[in-house]
Amino acid sequence: MRTRRCRIAASAVLATTLVAGLASCGQEARGGSRYQPDKGKGGTIGLAMPTKSSERWIADGRNMAKQFRKAGYKTDLQYGDDKVENQIAQIENMITKGHRLLVIAAIDGSALTNVLKRAADAHIPVISYDRLILGTKNVDYYASFDNERVGELQGQYILDKLELKKPDADAAEDKHYNIELFAGSPDDNNTKYFWNGAMKKLKPFMKTGQLVVRSKQTKMNQATTLRWDGGTAQKRMDDLISKNYGSTDVDAVLSPYDGISIGIISALKSAGYGGKRHPLPIVTGQDAELASVKSIIAGQQTQTVFKDTRKLAKQAVQMGDAVLTGKKVEVNNTTDYDNGKKVVPAYLLKPVSVDKSNTQLLIDEGYFTKGQLK
Ligand code: BGC
Repeated sequence: MRTRRCRIAASAVLATTLVAGLASCGQEARGGSRYQPDKGKGGTIGLAMPTKSSERWIADGRNMAKQFRKAGYKTDLQYGDDKVENQIAQIENMITKGHRLLVIAAIDGSALTNVLKRAADAHIPVISYDRLILGTKNVDYYASFDNERVGELQGQYILDKLELKKPDADAAEDKHYNIELFAGSPDDNNTKYFWNGAMKKLKPFMKTGQLVVRSKQTKMNQATTLRWDGGTAQKRMDDLISKNYGSTDVDAVLSPYDGISIGIISALKSAGYGGKRHPLPIVTGQDAELASVKSIIAGQQTQTVFKDTRKLAKQAVQMGDAVLTGKKVEVNNTTDYDNGKKVVPAYLLKPVSVDKSNTQLLIDEGYFTKGQLK
């Protein structure tokens, strides 16, 4: 059975098929018994999530646990409380308990090399969930959203709202807009994709002077927010306002995540923004968290990026089940996610921009009920 499957896979031409084929060949194709496909269903899946401080990760964990159970597995769901050492200890424990597969959303993408070596020695496959695990070959697949697209949606939203259609230095003489920039956690690999996507859209207008960053903090490492913490973002925004916006207003703030947007909006309100004479600037976001969607409906936060965590969970469960049962693993990107040791075959889902005009989508998709958004 195994040999036949391997022969079929070896004759496949497409890279994606080959990758999937290698997984399904298990021991023989990989020269080690990293996968145990012939064991079929059953056993426990270790789910290592970063934090409960954001709704999205609670939903990710809950959705995956539910769907893995439905697919015939037990689950062990752990949250690392945003502390790297907790997450490492939790993964070590999962390995010791002999779990069959690990699905990990890393707190620090570069901190798992040693523990994943242990997983590899124990022949436990690893799926990197939402955030790419870096610097190790011991990660098999990656399930995420098109992260650069998330940033593009945020950047483009700002341009559309400000009616900036094309870069034009002459236009900057008449009118410019003030913008401040926030980035995610420096240890999360997604941060640079979000940032690059947004900068692809915003930078040409920064060059012409149509967009002005009064703080001059235009580099990603000046704009990052450790652990995506809203309080940290609030402090930075307080500081940016007090040092740069005495006589003039900020018109837009690039925010990569709803929790950060909430902190930014608090700082803006403390500085007197929010009334008719002094409206809040455009503030983007990500994750369509309930508090932020309500804030959008109330006219405070302007935009968010909806990433349906149920679909991501489903994708990771399909990947995991396929790895464990020796089926073909579905991927749609085999080029872009190089973790420094290998290009990790990935499945990327599509993010969607949401503002006041289309929050109904979240109800139509069953993500929130009408009652929740009241
Ligand atoms: C995720 C985002 C999330 C952020 C903060 C990122 O890795 O891709 O969806 O907003 O972490 O939790």
